[in-house]
Amino acid sequence: MSNTSAELRVLNSQDAAKLLYSNTTAACLITLASSSALAFGFSDSLVSSTKLIWWGCMLLTLIPRQLDGYFWQRKIQPRRDFDGDAAQRRFGIGCLTTAIVWASLPLLTFDRLNMIEFSTTVIVLSSMAAGGQSILAANARIAISYALILLIPISILGITSQDDFRILLGGLGLVFGIALVFTYSKAVKFTLESINTRNMYLAMGEQLREDKQQLGKVNKELSQAYDKLNVVNSTLEEEVNKRTEKIAKLSYLDPLTKLMNRKAFTHTLSKLTTRAAQSNSDLALLFIDLDGFKKINDTMGHQIGDSVLQEVTRRISAFADTNKIGRWNGDEFLVALPYSDSQTAQAIASAMISSISQAIVVNNSSMHVGATVSIAMCPEHSTQAAELIQFADLVMCEQKATSNRLPTVFSNELQQRIVASQSILEGLQHAIERQQFYLCYQPIICAKDNTFGSFEALLRWDFADRFIGPDQFIPLAEKSGLIISIGAWVLNRACMDASHWQHAHNAAVSVNVSVIQLMDDSFIRALDNALRSSGLPPDRLHLEITESIFVDNKSKIKQQLKEIQTRNIQVSIDDFGTGYSSLSQLQTLSVNQVKIDKSFIDNMNNNGEAIIRATLFITSELNCKTVAEGVETIEQVEALTAMGVDFLQGFYFAKPMRNEQLIEWLNPINDITSVASATK
Ligand code: C2E
Ligand code: CA
Ligand code: CA
Repeated sequence: MSNTSAELRVLNSQDAAKLLYSNTTAACLITLASSSALAFGFSDSLVSSTKLIWWGCMLLTLIPRQLDGYFWQRKIQPRRDFDGDAAQRRFGIGCLTTAIVWASLPLLTFDRLNMIEFSTTVIVLSSMAAGGQSILAANARIAISYALILLIPISILGITSQDDFRILLGGLGLVFGIALVFTYSKAVKFTLESINTRNMYLAMGEQLREDKQQLGKVNKELSQAYDKLNVVNSTLEEEVNKRTEKIAKLSYLDPLTKLMNRKAFTHTLSKLTTRAAQSNSDLALLFIDLDGFKKINDTMGHQIGDSVLQEVTRRISAFADTNKIGRWNGDEFLVALPYSDSQTAQAIASAMISSISQAIVVNNSSMHVGATVSIAMCPEHSTQAAELIQFADLVMCEQKATSNRLPTVFSNELQQRIVASQSILEGLQHAIERQQFYLCYQPIICAKDNTFGSFEALLRWDFADRFIGPDQFIPLAEKSGLIISIGAWVLNRACMDASHWQHAHNAAVSVNVSVIQLMDDSFIRALDNALRSSGLPPDRLHLEITESIFVDNKSKIKQQLKEIQTRNIQVSIDDFGTGYSSLSQLQTLSVNQVKIDKSFIDNMNNNGEAIIRATLFITSELNCKTVAEGVETIEQVEALTAMGVDFLQGFYFAKPMRNEQLIEWLNPINDITSVASATK
């Protein structure tokens, strides 16, 4: 319930009615007693018969009032919604009727009342008027009217009489009546305020109770929700735990093979090496690299490739605990073998290689991969996991470079080589700024007329008075990325030198370009810069690219070759026939020249000649020129010329020479009648 002022007014009115009615019986009894005393208390009264009638009237007034009081108590009051104002009016009617009956007594009997009777009547009426104060305090109009009706008529009668005593009593009655009006007003005000205050408190109490109930309800709902939340939380917690476990697993497991990934394996290996070092026992680390896997992946698709990797994982797992095997990279695996010396490790590695090399059947097709295994030992080589892996990897690089298929253990000699290559690498980083590079040029001769086709620029490095051949430092420069800046230097130098060759002003310069350099986004810019700054016509620049371009990103290579050839720069395939290329692949890339590798020239007496002839056949079909490299003898010159090779290059004609030497060598004043005789 809300305690709006309208509701409060209704409550107040109801309470006032209750208060008025609460004394009905007492009021009726007092009235009956007082009226009876006045009616029958005076044996010498002259108006006893009038009084009797009057008393009868009083009785007739009191009985309905009493009945009304009874009815009120039984029927109306218990109802919460009774009309308080109406009840007060009803009570007022009864009460004021009683007052009128009281007032009628002096009016009817005044002349004939003796002094005592009159005095008594004044006293009784005054008492009744005063007594009403407490009974009628809930309604000002009734209370005041009651007092005035009771006292005014008798007072006026008294005042207007001829008798001094009656005048005095009448005056007293009037004063008393007026005084009562004031006291009544105060009493009523006080009573109504009390009712109002009480109801306000009750309403507040009710509101509080309601709020409390509401609060209780909300509390209950909250606790139910809390229970539910607890249930949800606990399932959520379970779910989170499960997921965390899964994520943790995923974060250290390779999803394809379910072997440890790099991070997890390195961590495990650290623990194992620490243990091995502490117990001074051997631990072998095997680095396994699959051979021929890339081809399967490229030709058969990644799904088959994945199945092959899974099968290889199963085969490796036959030799070691799976919690000691890791997948390092695409087709690289690492295996830790605790308590295993190098001989045992090599024996296990050999067995692994033959197991992996067995045919693998996927989707009814049988395929083969090989494996190369390198080994590093703890604590002999290192007790650090990362270093052990690095050493094994270095051996692997060495094995791949030398096509060594036997399981090989890391050695101090290898380490020395590595240290040496590290110092070379450091030196390479400063070689340009320290001006340690220079170029040598080797002529490439036209087989038909012995004229100069071009001069191949070959890089030389003067490193702390040590001579380090390009075969040694170029791979390091490629690995470290230094080849980009070194290559740009070579291009600039070669173009600049060639632009000053007065006695060979039509000959081209052939510059070797690494595939890494070619693939770099800055390459074309470097090319343009070299041509622009030297002023060399682009058709006097040839680029030699090794045949490893056949294995790299073909679309990018094609795009770069197109960029090069639109500038009218010629492109040669270097070392043709040694590695990845095949004659059929030659058709996929448009090149201007093919350089047949020295090994075929050396082997002409065996099957070299057949390969040279096959190459010549294809190149003539593709409208592509051929160069024979490493021509050392007159027999080779004659045989190659007879076969139809376009150009010849080799020590037979000239060794690579510094630019100054070349300029001198080219000068006709030096009486060089033919190129061949000049170098003989
Ligand atoms: P390449 O491009 O095949 O160069 C030919 C190599 O064979 C040169 O060795 C040259 O001196 C040598 N040679 C030439 N004629 C004969 C001969 O009749 N008999 C013998 N035995 N050898 C002959 P070099 O100068 O040591 O270069 C080795 C390799 O280094 C080059 O092989 C080339 O791949 C690379 N290289 C040289 N300079 C550069 C360069 O500036 N950039 C790049 N990327 N690679 C270079
Ligand atoms: Ca070359
Ligand atoms: Ca070559």
